[in-house]
Amino acid sequence: MVMFRPKSKKLHVNNSDDIVGISKNLLLDIIETAKSKYPNEFGAVLRKNSRGIISEMLILPGTISGHKRAEFKFYMMHVDFNTVGTVHSHPSPYPIPSSADSELFSRFGKCHIIIAYPYDLSSWIAYDRNSNRISVGIIEDL
Ligand SMILES: [Zn+2]
Repeated sequence: MVMFRPKSKKLHVNNSDDIVGISKNLLLDIIETAKSKYPNEFGAVLRKNSRGIISEMLILPGTISGHKRAEFKFYMMHVDFNTVGTVHSHPSPYPIPSSADSELFSRFGKCHIIIAYPYDLSSWIAYDRNSNRISVGIIEDL
């Protein structure tokens, strides 16, 4: 959620809303974390860097995992200008948002990733706040 934004001026790329892509290193981190939590889920907040690349995840404290869906303590998270959305894992092969997921996506952010079993570079889907699929490129890290 963008908390405030100058009304009239054109902004530089640093303040842009646009997401350029997701860092490959971060994606590999997400994959490793999802595997390590399997068969449980994990959830994290995604942040972008100054170039608009999603490059950081903050795993939420108090995330409860179990057979039911993870209940993320989103009230504990810090939403700032660089927060772009969320990521969480599904122990099933279906990276499809549940109704609770869609409810969460609608609250803030513009990029919400679900990664499904078997957790690889092709088993994730990104959604916007209306749970429509969006394409997010993978950026090779320098
Ligand atoms: Zn889910």
